[in-house]
Amino acid sequence: MSHRPRILIIYTGGTIGMIENPDTGTLQPFDFSHLLDNVPKIKMLNYVIDNVQFDEPIDSSDMDPSHWVRIAAAIEREYDNYHGFVVLHGTDTMAYSASALSFMLEGLRKPVIITGSQLPIGEVRTDGEENLITALQIAAATNADGAPMVQEVAILFEDYLWRGNRSTKMSADNFNAFKSNNYPALAKIGLGIHYNEDALYRPANAENTALKVHYTLDTGVMFVDLFPGMRESTLRHQLSTPGIKGIVLKTYGAGNAPTAQWFTEALSNAVNQGKVVLNVTQCVNGAVHKRYMSANTLANAGVVSGGDMTAEAAITKMMFLFGLGLDSKEVAERFSHALCGEVTL
Ligand code: ASP
Repeated sequence: MSHRPRILIIYTGGTIGMIENPDTGTLQPFDFSHLLDNVPKIKMLNYVIDNVQFDEPIDSSDMDPSHWVRIAAAIEREYDNYHGFVVLHGTDTMAYSASALSFMLEGLRKPVIITGSQLPIGEVRTDGEENLITALQIAAATNADGAPMVQEVAILFEDYLWRGNRSTKMSADNFNAFKSNNYPALAKIGLGIHYNEDALYRPANAENTALKVHYTLDTGVMFVDLFPGMRESTLRHQLSTPGIKGIVLKTYGAGNAPTAQWFTEALSNAVNQGKVVLNVTQCVNGAVHKRYMSANTLANAGVVSGGDMTAEAAITKMMFLFGLGLDSKEVAERFSHALCGEVTL
């Protein structure tokens, strides 16, 4: 490989590359050449930059596992040819894609930096130009040993680099749109890019450097989001949705839920039918604990703790584990391990 950093940009769509439709006034995805035309400064980096793009760039609210497969396949195909990868993506489902890709790209030892913007790159006050350039610099960065500084899937947005499977979209408005509420920033972007090297992911088995890409995700999963006043019939209906193998239960506070007998019974029935029920908190920060009786009751009903995982990581990890062909018992068991830094144990 050349000494100049070689970076592959994978363009999926999102606001960063959108332009305004003059007839409707709405933003629509546009192609990659338009995006690069608007960032002539990229040439000043003196990197070798190539790109691939989805045939039809999309608004990320249309993202689904088939798109994750395409992104992962591009990375696998070009893995040995580039120092790093930058994925341009809409912000709406960025945290889901970052989480899914982190599980799919087992053994990743190169940077996969996902970014986008709140304002299209063609607009005067765009945040897209800075995000794109910083993402490219991070994808090219090496540490003192000459190894890639970042060896994981991460989200770069405005002032911070976050672990992808710890991130959540926090704002539909602010330029600092993402945060990882239970894990420190991997880097702070200021005059320089200040890496928090202790926070960066390093695999336990550093010897094993082969990338192994997993392409099967099982979408037989769903969220059940609690609220005071939820009816028994609503819960039972949701839990008996046809084809569902796994449920991510969004609970209150430190993993609490109603203690009414009908509630616990409905959940233990689901578990006894072979479904995996995973407990994550609705709070943006903190974790599921057995601090209160109600969380304990859930655990006794066979509900598995998701610890401090984000909802995005929880649902995509479930798709991934069922996609491996594991049975419910094995899937439930794997939630007590971290695959790639997604949970504090
Ligand atoms: N709806 C857009 C998307 O997710 C929002 C954005 O990119 O910021 O594609």
